[in-house]
Amino acid sequence: MTKKIKKIQISRHIIQLILFFLLPGMYILAFSELKSILQMIVSGNFNFIQAFPGLMEFIITTVFTILMGRFFCGWLCAFGTFNDWIHIISKKIFKIDFKVSEQLDSILKYAKYIILFIILSLVFKGGNTILDGSSPWDAFAQISDLSTVLSSLTVGFILLVLITLGNIFIERFFCRYLCPLGAVFSLVSRMGIFKINKPGDKCGRCRLCTDNCSMGLKLYSMNSIKGGECINCLKCIETCPRRNPRASILGEDVNPAMASSFAIVTFTGIYGLTNLGSSILTQKGLSSANNVVSSSKSKMSNSNSQTAVNSNASQKAKYKDGTYIGTGTGFHGGTTKVSVTVSGGKITDIKTISTDDTPRFYQYVEGTIPDEIISAQSNSVVDTVSGATYSSRGLIEAVQNALDKAV
Ligand code: SF4
Ligand code: SF4
Repeated sequence: MTKKIKKIQISRHIIQLILFFLLPGMYILAFSELKSILQMIVSGNFNFIQAFPGLMEFIITTVFTILMGRFFCGWLCAFGTFNDWIHIISKKIFKIDFKVSEQLDSILKYAKYIILFIILSLVFKGGNTILDGSSPWDAFAQISDLSTVLSSLTVGFILLVLITLGNIFIERFFCRYLCPLGAVFSLVSRMGIFKINKPGDKCGRCRLCTDNCSMGLKLYSMNSIKGGECINCLKCIETCPRRNPRASILGEDVNPAMASSFAIVTFTGIYGLTNLGSSILTQKGLSSANNVVSSSKSKMSNSNSQTAVNSNASQKAKYKDGTYIGTGTGFHGGTTKVSVTVSGGKITDIKTISTDDTPRFYQYVEGTIPDEIISAQSNSVVDTVSGATYSSRGLIEAVQNALDKAV
């Protein structure tokens, strides 16, 4: 392995580490936006301005993946990073190196398409909430608040444990076989401009690239790799002692380090600009209307939401005048602190003092939930915002915590 190529993998792990902490919810966002937009369309509530932030999030991630392949998976996704870390630890420290047979691997890879189909079918039938509490992604995102995960995401937590066990034995276990977003990316990334060429006539018999491929691809039988199951980790390029695999864009050989840098900078740049744009829209109130709220009020009886809301029957009682501070736990265990003002026995103002929640999620709930609570004069009849369930719960819990001090 040459020093130059090794640097690419070191860079990849550093970038993964940074983005794991800076943008931990990106993998949930892209998929939850797709679900939210489909829900809006199915329920007849689609409004372009209000759907814009989510729409852009999904379009940018998808268009980027169509053009450049799955750099998102190989370099940016926090859950993919988690997959990598678990496997690195098991391989380097515990010396576990299990290989799935090619036949079984090729069958198991279809599982993620079945999962994607089931989720989208449920969205179209309006039964998407059936899966609430069973997402291992959500359990992972909330893991710093273990007691909440165990109580409201029990199935998701069990799946997360099973996925972690799978990762110990099989590299990128979740990405290979189970990820619905990976299934979307695999389908759309086959026509892009980025490709890895690996002319078979220059190969020896070592099969080192195949043995080291993160996604278990049969590289020994391929002359080029373009999207699909490949996550552009570039390990095959670093592994080959003959430097046979080469990165190319539009058919021209490119330096793999340059190609990955270009991909990461472009994606995070566009992502940042979109977030800025959607924040401006939200601040102007254009995207704070109710259509990001789940269309069906029947969800109000959903037990998970009710657990987080922790409503009580005395909410209709008058509150003592004053301004009260409350805290709640939102997405990724982030603490949200609010001030609730009561005047004339009524809730008149709710302000966010601070939040450690993911801004992209929190901006949805901040533009929606306080107005709903004030108009209902109750915390218990407010639904969580679709696509930002945990941020909603954090805000609702914070308001409840403040109101508890006002009675
Ligand atoms: S396959 Fe899924 S979990 Fe894996 S890196 Fe891609 S989006 Fe993330
Ligand atoms: S083919 Fe190469 S770049 Fe693609 S997943 Fe396998 S090792 Fe990574």
